[in-house]
Amino acid sequence: MSDCIFCKIVKKEIPSKIVYEDKISFAFLDIKPYNLGHTLVIPKKHYRWVWDIKEIGEFFKSVNKVANAIRKGLKTEFVVSLIVGEEVPHAHVHLVPRFKDDGHGSAIKLGNFKNISEKDQLEALSKIKKYLK
Ligand code: ZN
Repeated sequence: MSDCIFCKIVKKEIPSKIVYEDKISFAFLDIKPYNLGHTLVIPKKHYRWVWDIKEIGEFFKSVNKVANAIRKGLKTEFVVSLIVGEEVPHAHVHLVPRFKDDGHGSAIKLGNFKNISEKDQLEALSKIKKYLK
């Protein structure tokens, strides 16, 4: 889809902080993060919903890989996954690490975005990527 923002990110027409990519999947830091290290994992091919992805098994292996890299890199057991799909019409899975006293309470509050500095984001990115080599 030519006017899809996530397709443009996959093609690198729009820059993003890339966490991981393989043949099927692409992961990058969400520009509206709920927490430090909030990552979106998307299929490279355009599908409207996660439930449409033909390579779903491979896709979720990538999601699993990225989630575990976030856990190790940011030293937290607690990584929330959210599949909502209403924000951008290209299938995506949110991976949101949780930290002690991160301001979200017992559950992530949708729309409660954090202002995270460029420096902190790049630092988190390199910590996560260390476990994706
Ligand atoms: Zn797309």
